[in-house]
Amino acid sequence: MFWWAVAFHTEHRFTKDGGVAAPEVEDIFADILERAKALDPANARKWFEELTVLHLDGGSLGIGCPDDTTVQFLQDSCKASFTRAAQQITGHLVTVDFRVEASDKLDSGARGSQPGLNDPISQKKRGTGTLRLHPDYTFDNFVVGPSNRLAHASCVAISQSPGNTYNPLFVYGSSGLGKTHLLHAVCFEAQGKFDHAIIQFLSCEDFVNRFIRAIEEGNLPGFQSQFRTVDMLVIDDVQFLREREHSQEEFFHTFNALYNNGRQIILSADSPPGKIPSLEERLISRFNWGLVTRIDPPSYETRVAIVQKKAHVRGIDIAEEIAGYVARKVHANIRELEGALTSIYAVATTTGQPIDLELARTALEGQIEAAARHINITDIIEVVTGHFDVRLADLQSKRRSQSITEPRQICMYLARNLTRHSLEEIGGHLGGRDHTTVMHACSKISQAKDADPKMNALLNDLTKRITQVPQM
Ligand code: ADP
Ligand code: MG
Repeated sequence: MFWWAVAFHTEHRFTKDGGVAAPEVEDIFADILERAKALDPANARKWFEELTVLHLDGGSLGIGCPDDTTVQFLQDSCKASFTRAAQQITGHLVTVDFRVEASDKLDSGARGSQPGLNDPISQKKRGTGTLRLHPDYTFDNFVVGPSNRLAHASCVAISQSPGNTYNPLFVYGSSGLGKTHLLHAVCFEAQGKFDHAIIQFLSCEDFVNRFIRAIEEGNLPGFQSQFRTVDMLVIDDVQFLREREHSQEEFFHTFNALYNNGRQIILSADSPPGKIPSLEERLISRFNWGLVTRIDPPSYETRVAIVQKKAHVRGIDIAEEIAGYVARKVHANIRELEGALTSIYAVATTTGQPIDLELARTALEGQIEAAARHINITDIIEVVTGHFDVRLADLQSKRRSQSITEPRQICMYLARNLTRHSLEEIGGHLGGRDHTTVMHACSKISQAKDADPKMNALLNDLTKRITQVPQM
């Protein structure tokens, strides 16, 4: 038995009402955090150290977070690992709850006096309800190099003075080069600076899906007023507009309404406006009105700096030699660089070895092999639909019966774990679902995997079959 489990069960750890004495709660909580990091290295972050324990009693652990963004990230990505860690450390069944810790140092006085983006609409309440941002995707965490300098500079300029510099801003580049990161960073920055601004950030698919839903529900005016009255509209991956005529038309009117009112529009895509297949001419021309800027694959030096930055964000000590090794091995895509770092960290925590060149080599062998195999979503869907005897059309439909939901969620989970696709892309393959749906599916299946040995065996079996699908 581990020492902390022993320590936890000794009497002095408990107060009379069955809770745990405060200083010891802190210790236990520190152990839980360490354990959670080890259980899910991909989501381990240095800022976990700033989380606080609100209570640990009655089978429940309350964790205090600095803001909504952190709560969302932990809730979506880390709930399963925190729950498991808490149960392992305390030896009890514990549920975990993330909450914004009430802050007594609200600086609304200082901030509230800042002007909004553009009056008078910005006098309305702050539009953060729908703003789901990834806590890692800030300007601070973004490494600037020759490949992304212009895109970065334009995003910074916009965040300082939205609507007045480049409008619209159109950022394009291949997958995994930092478009979404930059878009989130602008929102973070603008949100902090312009307290009352209504900022709307969403993937293009989400826009299209909400539009379709609004039509089905006969609530087009509601949809229109939601998007045409914001101060800043940020839409990621607009290449999803291709071949969607009605959505393009709606988008065109949204664009005009915002543009004519001097509101900021920021768009990203995998190619420049003119190269997005079957995008209407009038949209192409509007997307070109402002600044169109490209992100290229990063140079070796930028890759080294990115590995170091990512290691820092995760609280991992990594020598320059190792960062250089990773940057030489992985060059196509920054998401893969991160994956490499995660593998190294995972091997280091499970073996207890320091991160040296030898360990990095061992860790990356498997990863590079997996990347070379090029598993794609189609392989996954084929194996999963075959196993459950359902059709792809069922998975893509809106049906919510358990017999369809489960295979659909399993596809999402496996795609997230076995491919390099983003949450948005995975949702796109499975009936145009948004990234939060995919995130929810992943955490649900991963919890089921932990709790249910049968699910664990099934996932292992499916994974084996998928990775053995003969490659072209
Ligand atoms: P895209 O939207 O272009 O497909 P993302 O923004 O999702 O790419 O980036 C993929 C991953 O790479 C993210 O984790 C992001 O933080 C990271 N990343 C990309 N560019 C940089 C950079 N310049 N500095 C730090 N991290 C980066
Ligand atoms: Mg993206």
